[in-house]
Amino acid sequence: MDYQPLYQALRSAKADPWADRLPQQISDAFDPTRHGLLAIWQQLIDKLPEFSTRLRILDADVVQIGSANDLTELARATLETQLKSLHAWRKGPYGLFGIKVDAEWRSDWKWRRVENHISPLKHRLVLDIGCGNGYYCWRMLGAQAKLVVGIDPMLLNVMQFQSVRKLHGETPPVFVLPLGIEDLPYGLRAFDTVFSMGVLYHRRSPIDHLLELRDCLVPGGELILETLIIDGGLGEVLVPEHRYAKMRNVWFLPSCPTLMAWLSRCGFKNIRLIDITVTSTEEQRSTAWMTFHSLKDNLAPDNPMLTCEGLPAPKRAIFIAQTASC
Ligand code: SAH
Repeated sequence: MDYQPLYQALRSAKADPWADRLPQQISDAFDPTRHGLLAIWQQLIDKLPEFSTRLRILDADVVQIGSANDLTELARATLETQLKSLHAWRKGPYGLFGIKVDAEWRSDWKWRRVENHISPLKHRLVLDIGCGNGYYCWRMLGAQAKLVVGIDPMLLNVMQFQSVRKLHGETPPVFVLPLGIEDLPYGLRAFDTVFSMGVLYHRRSPIDHLLELRDCLVPGGELILETLIIDGGLGEVLVPEHRYAKMRNVWFLPSCPTLMAWLSRCGFKNIRLIDITVTSTEEQRSTAWMTFHSLKDNLAPDNPMLTCEGLPAPKRAIFIAQTASC
């Protein structure tokens, strides 16, 4: 992967402190001793053929690269086996040379809730924090962002992204880096739009997370924040005693008024709540590309309004806010 265009873009955005540190961060993250399967995944991506295609559709529900007609049946069957060995595919859908990667999440549904409310991404430098395998990064590029940087500390996600990028065949201005938000230098103020979707409830310090998000944005930049919420008024927050829908790392589920107050306290302006949706078992489910348990298995068997721990079932809200322009 050639990261030079990324370093250049960061330098033009005056994010030199990160551009200086990134080569070392990337090489540390890809240290083969860090994950037992990394070498196998890397080999798999190296072995992916470079098919030629003209078909690249990034502005539709299914992120599509290549068509079924570009490959022989045998080549397609081999590609499907290669991609399936990067199981579990949690974000999608993708259509790759006629192979439908039916991921656990219908991520396109969330994008539909977001896309018409955000400032147009055209010409913007975008950061997607906790980007998973980069499904939304492709959609952001499809919305004509100048450059998209996704970060996600889970190496398998990064490998899935790299497989899609290799199949893309060109060098599009989209990168997914094996990093967490804590790896970003303080005070970057470089990105025009920052997305944090599905991350806040994994953070033990939600206010610090909001401050870190603010810190990544240029003055007048836009935050899109999506997270689990509870019904309730100002000041109400659920902190699960143990697990939440079997997840161990869930910390704060605020009510919408509470989260809006947190955003305001952290200096965000023009704070808008644009969507509340109960997560359905059609939106998040086990598939041939994600064969583990999914939402259905984590809800109370006799009451889909509750998680198996007896807590309110997952409901998500999307907020948009701006940093002060100065
Ligand atoms: N944004 C995607 C994925 C949400 S799942 C979506 O909305 O569908 C949450 C993601 O956050 C996971 O892929 C996880 O690996 C990532 N994550 C966990 N801790 C993180 C951290 N400290 N910094 C950035 N991403 C993190």
